[in-house]
Amino acid sequence: MKALVLQEPHRLTIEDRPVPEPGPGEVRVRIHRGGICGSDMHYFHHGGFGVVRMKAPMVLGHELAGVVDAVGPGVGAVANGDRVAVNPSLACGQCAYCRAGAPRQCSDMRFMGSAMRNPHVDGGFREYVVVTEQQAVPVGDAIGLDEAAVCEPLAVCLHAVSQGPDLAGKRVLVTGFGPIGALTFLAARHAGAAALCATDVAAGPLALATQLGAAASYDVSVPGALAEEERDRGQFDVVFECSGHPSAVQAALAVTRPGGSIVQVGILPDQMNLPFNPLVTKEIAYRGTFRFDREFNQAAALISSRAIDVRPIISGAFPFTEADAAFAFAQDRQRAIKVMLEFA
Ligand code: ZN
Repeated sequence: MKALVLQEPHRLTIEDRPVPEPGPGEVRVRIHRGGICGSDMHYFHHGGFGVVRMKAPMVLGHELAGVVDAVGPGVGAVANGDRVAVNPSLACGQCAYCRAGAPRQCSDMRFMGSAMRNPHVDGGFREYVVVTEQQAVPVGDAIGLDEAAVCEPLAVCLHAVSQGPDLAGKRVLVTGFGPIGALTFLAARHAGAAALCATDVAAGPLALATQLGAAASYDVSVPGALAEEERDRGQFDVVFECSGHPSAVQAALAVTRPGGSIVQVGILPDQMNLPFNPLVTKEIAYRGTFRFDREFNQAAALISSRAIDVRPIISGAFPFTEADAAFAFAQDRQRAIKVMLEFA
């Protein structure tokens, strides 16, 4: 099979690898679509993010969908020919966090296409992957496999929404309208938010927010863009900070009302210098969110029924042999939200 391997920043090569065989309880998936994630772009451009650095070549990719083409002994949940989204998350099941019901915090997590673990766990930008049967989640026949490949980022956003308060009737802001911002917006609407607003610094994402029904969308590259939302110590009940920019955290602290909540979805710089006292004086709940657990299966159900329609966020698809062009396009925030690689 062919695999797309990141050798070092800006150097993707296509390698021949043996087709993997499924063992007991495992299935093989012929990959059709792989979404390019922000973290894939960080590996591509910088070899990592934060303190995570690639120490060896690695296959990227953890937003995957395809068709089951072989099953190992004892598999009962899925069968050959099933169209599936691949859950890239494989927790150990043994550690304290797994036993406490928070496998996303597993001390020995094997997450596809991540350099956090050594040796690195290869991702799914290749023609075949072998995963446990629980990681192959059927999506039915009614949606495209490009939509199915959005299950993983939607799961991240469903988990982000679960980290905040009940959104029913709330006024909600999403800061940063890339793929995670847009999917958090859709997840928050599904959770009952009464009014949803968005910020970004690029016209393309702001236009998407309007298309998706934002009550207001703010270009925060313009000084004072959020002045109206700062009235009376803040107009939003909940802010989902999806940009990872310190300036957006500062803005969130200014527009969140007393007693409100901020959920930090974007990964931040290792150090920030911010006026943090609004957190204290307005009694704001500031909470992080990371990956997902059962939300992956919820995402598969919501996408396969189109209860959440992710088609508007899919901006284009490239054959995996043109991955350099795909990564360049994905970098263009004016035109690209979620970009897909095609493997079949
Ligand atoms: Zn564990």
